[in-house]
Amino acid sequence: MLLQDLNQKIINCNHCQLSTIRKHAVIGQGNSSSDMMLIGQSPGKVEDESNSLFVGPSGQIIDKLLVFAGVTRDDIYLTNLIKCILPKSRRPSHNEIRECSNYLDREIEIVDPRFIVPLGFHSTRYILGKYGLEKPDKNNFHKLFGKKIQLKGIIIYPLRHPTALFFNPSMGGIMKKNYSYLNIFLKT
Ligand code: SF4
Repeated sequence: MLLQDLNQKIINCNHCQLSTIRKHAVIGQGNSSSDMMLIGQSPGKVEDESNSLFVGPSGQIIDKLLVFAGVTRDDIYLTNLIKCILPKSRRPSHNEIRECSNYLDREIEIVDPRFIVPLGFHSTRYILGKYGLEKPDKNNFHKLFGKKIQLKGIIIYPLRHPTALFFNPSMGGIMKKNYSYLNIFLKT
């Protein structure tokens, strides 16, 4: 399947209840030939309205982290686990993850990145499960962020979601350090 055919399916999708509240199902963006795919959770209000990925407050943070790392959006492919906005920023349900992750699975097949970088809890949890890796309990989950997981043919590198900085600005230092490895990986 071509990426443009997949994107058309996403744009027209009504497989879960989120289709009734969204303005746009926001498709992946960036360099589909890149070795690196970053996977956020879901579009926010600004993304839903503008039909663009990571352009709201979290987008401003990720752009700063990428600039610090020396990586441009053209160097990477960006997408989300859930393609439609979640009401009141609630967590995605099991059903929504099950339905929408089919699209992410196809994106991974098509883009075929060497580095898969899930951002935040839900995307990381999904990617760990997809590749048959043990999922730590919630209290220990944070230990995964910034740890490189080498599998046959791919590297999974979970990072904190940029919105983590809203709640805990003191994590700026460790997040800059962890994001800076993106550039190092791209050059290998
Ligand atoms: S969240 Fe995903 S599965 Fe649900 S309607 Fe949007 S594109 Fe379809």
